Amino acid sequence: MWSVEMASAGVTEPLDILAIAAHPDDVEQTCGGTLLRMAAAGYRTGVLDLTAGDMGSRGTPELRIRESQAAASLLRLAWRGNLRWPDARLENTITARMTLAAEIRHLRPRVVILPYWEGRHPDHYRAAEIGYESCFLAGLKKLDEETPPHRPAQVLYSSLYANVKPSFVVDISAQFERRMESLFAYGSQYDDDGGEAGGFPKRAEIRERLGAVARFYGNLIGVRYGEPFVVKETMRVDDITTLGVRSL
Ligand SMILES: [Zn+2]
Repeated sequence: MWSVEMASAGVTEPLDILAIAAHPDDVEQTCGGTLLRMAAAGYRTGVLDLTAGDMGSRGTPELRIRESQAAASLLRLAWRGNLRWPDARLENTITARMTLAAEIRHLRPRVVILPYWEGRHPDHYRAAEIGYESCFLAGLKKLDEETPPHRPAQVLYSSLYANVKPSFVVDISAQFERRMESLFAYGSQYDDDGGEAGGFPKRAEIRERLGAVARFYGNLIGVRYGEPFVVKETMRVDDITTLGVRSL
């Protein structure tokens, strides 16, 4: 049976969408608008953060996790968990993959969102790799004979911080403000008190930066704010008259 130590031990209903992220506050910057929009559409959404930011210069893991739960309710997540793996030192080990595969088998998401597979922070690309390989393992019948196999149908890569052409962009114009609120739920990270002195930009600066990025991606599809994703598969279209974005 499910171990009580599992991050998702209390979850009884499958998720539709699970975002797996390296750090608390990653999804709030990259795909939180999409998660909000999907929750509004009636899907059960969840986030599994792999680390609790124990190497961060501000805050403690306990505080970061509390803040991430406040952000979770703003994002209307059905569930959020944290594996408390070592921050800034994520490693793709068999233990890591088996642990994450067990969580995926329990949560049973149809769609998994991972960070893009290249990036400045090693935790981000490693989370992409561990996430993909764990989704694969989760589908193996003999991995663990007590738990049923589950393989997500779709893996999406959240590419907001990668300088790559997205496969598609989700219109988050109606969700952008609430996504910003969810980011500012991390008072230990985004607190105007410290100002620039501690190397942490003020909220207005963060807002302007994230607004500019969301505007850039929104502009690609003719809306105000957008969030970009990359998929490795070719996307299927059944009706070429309803592609939704104008050529000219
Ligand atoms: Zn991060």
